[in-house]
Amino acid sequence: MLNIGCHVSSSKGYVQMLKDTLYIGGNTFAWFTRNPRGGQAKAVDPVDLEKFIALAQENNFTYLVAHAPYTLNLCSLDPSTRDFAIRTFKDDLRILQNVPSSFYNFHPGSHVGQGEDKGISLIVDALNEILSEEQNTIVLLETMAGKGSEVGRNFYEIKRIIDGVKLKDHIGVCIDTCHLHDGGYNVVSDFDGVLDEFDRIIGLDKLKAVHLNDSKNVQGSHKDRHECIGKGCIGLEALVKVINNPRLQGKPFILETPNELDGYKEEIALLKSLYTGK
Ligand code: FE
Ligand code: FE
Ligand code: ZN
Repeated sequence: MLNIGCHVSSSKGYVQMLKDTLYIGGNTFAWFTRNPRGGQAKAVDPVDLEKFIALAQENNFTYLVAHAPYTLNLCSLDPSTRDFAIRTFKDDLRILQNVPSSFYNFHPGSHVGQGEDKGISLIVDALNEILSEEQNTIVLLETMAGKGSEVGRNFYEIKRIIDGVKLKDHIGVCIDTCHLHDGGYNVVSDFDGVLDEFDRIIGLDKLKAVHLNDSKNVQGSHKDRHECIGKGCIGLEALVKVINNPRLQGKPFILETPNELDGYKEEIALLKSLYTGK
């Protein structure tokens, strides 16, 4: 089965996120645990959550992929910004502790001129402070396009972060097809080669989720501008190969394309019609 969904609005709670996902024909979703630009997390309504858990089971929902706010920067130059990021991260994990089968996906950070070595060591220190043995949620480093001073722009940088983390069972990776392509990887004509490289450097057992996006820009542009499926520089044929890749079966695929629900619904119908798995 193709496990697919998109980013849904969290403003009306978990049951509504599930309903939006059923409407578009999906069985997983991504959401911001709080405003994508930061701010307070909304308190979770326990009744809504309980209803959601039952409905998710009935409707064969698979692993959900929560997204940390974009502004969270574990390797900021400013210690108070780093401290804020760590507190936000911990608070989100505390909330997710009650949401079964959830990942927490985050952008590793931007080193803002400190260099990637310093950036990586700050991210590692922060994660070692954040992660705990009791935590149910696996946190996922997202592969980045390499815009500005983003850390995580290639598999080596992701691997160095994982190497420094003590609780390795609690950390994984979310690949983003737009970011890989913009970061220079050949998603268009050699996605299998990209996965081979991922396996050689990081290990495929660490790959937990996929952001499925087309890109407005050419390979290696380091831009990070998502495009609708089939309308960008990656193209439909290559993205269909991604969802059908035998090594990615069972993973949640999350669309982050510039769409409203009806647009997502069309993209999911199209992808399902071209899905060759069972
Ligand atoms: Fe992201
Ligand atoms: Fe993404
Ligand atoms: Zn992006």
